[in-house]
Amino acid sequence: MDARITSVVVLGGGPAGWMTATYLRKALQGTVSVTVLEEPETAGDAGIEAALPTLQRSFFSTLGISEDDWMRESGATFGMAVRFVNWRTGGAGEPVARELPQGGADAFYHPYGLLPEHDQIPLSHYWYNRRHHGGTAEPFDYACFREPPLLDARRSPRWMDGRPATRYGWHIDRARFTDFLRRHATTRQGVRRVPGTLARVELDGNGYLETLHTTAGEALSGDLFIDCSGPRARLLRQVMAEPYLDLGDQLLCDRAVTVRPPHDGYAHGIEPYSTVIAMPAGWAGKIPVLGEFGASYVYASAYADAGTATDQLCRLWGLDPDRAEVGETAFRAGRTRRSWVRNCVGIGSSAGLLEPLEPTALHFVTSALQQLVRHFPADAFNPVLLDGFNREVATEFDEARDFVQAHFSGAQRTDTRFWRAHRDLTVSDSLRAKTVAYRAGLPLGSPLADERLYYGGGTPEPGRFWSNASYCAVLAGLGVEPDTPLPSLAHRPESVRGAEPLFERIKRQQQNLVETLPDAHDYLRHLHGWSVAGHPHTSARPGS
Ligand SMILES: Cc1cc2nc3c(=O)[nH]c(=O)nc-3n(C[C@H](O)[C@H](O)[C@H](O)COP(=O)(O)OP(=O)(O)OC[C@H]3O[C@@H](n4cnc5c(N)ncnc54)[C@H](O)[C@@H]3O)c2cc1C
Repeated sequence: MDARITSVVVLGGGPAGWMTATYLRKALQGTVSVTVLEEPETAGDAGIEAALPTLQRSFFSTLGISEDDWMRESGATFGMAVRFVNWRTGGAGEPVARELPQGGADAFYHPYGLLPEHDQIPLSHYWYNRRHHGGTAEPFDYACFREPPLLDARRSPRWMDGRPATRYGWHIDRARFTDFLRRHATTRQGVRRVPGTLARVELDGNGYLETLHTTAGEALSGDLFIDCSGPRARLLRQVMAEPYLDLGDQLLCDRAVTVRPPHDGYAHGIEPYSTVIAMPAGWAGKIPVLGEFGASYVYASAYADAGTATDQLCRLWGLDPDRAEVGETAFRAGRTRRSWVRNCVGIGSSAGLLEPLEPTALHFVTSALQQLVRHFPADAFNPVLLDGFNREVATEFDEARDFVQAHFSGAQRTDTRFWRAHRDLTVSDSLRAKTVAYRAGLPLGSPLADERLYYGGGTPEPGRFWSNASYCAVLAGLGVEPDTPLPSLAHRPESVRGAEPLFERIKRQQQNLVETLPDAHDYLRHLHGWSVAGHPHTSARPGS
């Protein structure tokens, strides 16, 4: 009997649901029918999200959709980095970087650009060596990456003719992004959309999902079910009863308040990066798009209530808390133990959720979809395929958890109960191992491979994203440096000398790029067809 999977049913029409539908239709070359059950109106749709550079190559390229096309449809802008503000100095939440006790601003970038290497050693480790021997006082990001001066000058990552000058991600209007994918799936790919709410499920005698029944009485049968129902994980957790591995003892934030203040890019330009500002009980995010920005305060409910968080978020951006339209979200960081159980696969926040300190959510979706296609069963649910998928997804999630946690364990703030609580938090064995290696002067991950694997045209490998470059940008930015430079450099004087011109080359490249790249707002205005004079949505705004 031919028992191939021919029909896939997706529960949930958020970003994960529609990304799944479009991707599977395309990557499985039309061999499966796809149906999406979505609630017609969902409160969670409003919002602006940041996405990592993988979105184009791993997702939209597979769909055959050009970057300009989906950017226009999603109101997307560029995000070349995350900027961290006031993670080292105590005080109230404020968007302007405070002065560090030793001088300099309490701010640093985590750029998505490439960290050069010399003699198979990343530049980070020549910088630590210089630093250790008193050879430089320049901050890590400005010394080792080409991007920081471009970010300060609010340049576009692409020249006016569209050529990219560096790696970058995007800031996306979540509702428009989802709507674009929905239209693409239903009008161009033959995906069936069923508006409605799941009421109950039918299982076969082996506990496999057979049919989803909606409150309107519709029955949706399928061979494979993808749970994209968000953190509630209606199928994976509630029906399949897969346990949730809660990370509440490792990551303290569990609430967010959000608002979308206007921003006059004509007067102030647009930041081609997102910002995270350390706050008394968490951190505040700023993700700019044309005419406005997504502002959030992600906080720990053990240390602040929603009223306080709303007041502090509004004060940060000069808004009146009584008039601002502030949304509230509760979440629990963690993941389901397995993402694929019998014929049910969780993708998106149904499978796992981390606070969006680094913009991982859409990356998890694309990465899980690649793994699902790679492990897609031919004629049975072979446990080897399920186990392989679950291992890859779990590794990727746990790597991201380590990286997010490294931000908090590296931040040396002790001025509030929230920041002091991080001293006593559980740290995973894998993060502890990374920290020990970093302290001993070693590059994290493969010194050669990570950036190349991800950016250099090879196949993206799950679990490889948070490279040495990312860890060094964040840890050095937080003022956490190795106890010693890479020990073997003491035996490689030629390599050390040979790396010196790289630092000078970066300076020349920085200057050249600042001089030749267009202003980000001009570029985006052109891309999105906004007029020179102004846009109806733009108004003089507080908090730019
Ligand atoms: C404040 C905040 C900021 C964030 N910022 C970022 C960011 O910058 N970058 C990033 O990558 N991530 C970010 N995230 C995380 C990100 O928003 C989510 O993880 C991701 O977008 C969730 O998408 P999803 O499709 O998995 O879930 P959801 O968007 O929650 O969608 C689930 C869908 O399932 C539907 N559904 C549920 N139950 C049923 C049912 N019974 N019947 C029918 N349908 C049902 C819902 O109606 C909904 O449409 C942020 C999260 C928060 C809280």
